[in-house]
Amino acid sequence: MKAALGGWVDMHLHLTDPAFQGEEAAVLARAWAAGVQWVVTSGTDLESSQRAVALARRFPGRVWATVGFHPHEAGQWTEASEAALEGLAGDPHVVAIGEIGLDFHYTFAPRDVQEAVFRRQLRLARRLSLPVVIHSREATAETLAVLREEMPVEGVLHCFTGDPELAQGGLELGLFLSVGGMLTFKKMEALREAVATLPRDRICLETDAPYLAPVPYRGKRNEPAWVVESGKALADLWGVDPDEAAAVTAANARRLFPRVAEWERSREGT
Ligand SMILES: [Zn+2]
Repeated sequence: MKAALGGWVDMHLHLTDPAFQGEEAAVLARAWAAGVQWVVTSGTDLESSQRAVALARRFPGRVWATVGFHPHEAGQWTEASEAALEGLAGDPHVVAIGEIGLDFHYTFAPRDVQEAVFRRQLRLARRLSLPVVIHSREATAETLAVLREEMPVEGVLHCFTGDPELAQGGLELGLFLSVGGMLTFKKMEALREAVATLPRDRICLETDAPYLAPVPYRGKRNEPAWVVESGKALADLWGVDPDEAAAVTAANARRLFPRVAEWERSREGT
């Protein structure tokens, strides 16, 4: 059977979040029914990374995993963490290191610890030739400075909220930007204006489920099926059909995650 290439991609969510416990298959079934082709579930520490890989094995070709320590969890990093992540990343269902980065809004871990753990994981990704999924909140200048020093790194700045400095710096570094439910929020006009100016071949879609549900589900537990709402908002912004927005953003996600594209090519003609 030839691999079907149509449909939406949710390139970032947290299926291992306790909010989905025991409901993963049902949540995914609703996503496939809504026209989602595949999703990428991201680890935030070692345990959730292990569970992300297990989920990806359970739903091959439809669920992919990233492994990494979120800046909130940077304080848990130990000398053994890098080897553990490297071991997990050897699994072919792992498509990136993430989510990693800097969060100076909450600063659950001290800034210097966040930065050190971010750098270690960027170097790991480079060594393994894997892209990275980056979280940057209230840390634009610091995130860009670290990325410039740790080049070359391929990846995506997830949950883009419209910061023009982050967009410009990220694009200069060759990164993708991903947008989600906030694109549908009435108050986020500045985000829509910023996204409208970005090159279309650099934009991906995500839900960040269970967080940040789009309109008309705002405030509910988000789920991957609802990536379609953000996708329609993007299509409106671009003045194209939803199908075209799905095709463009899915193609971008395939360039961002080469392991997915390789797997699909390996299935063609089988
Ligand atoms: Zn996330």
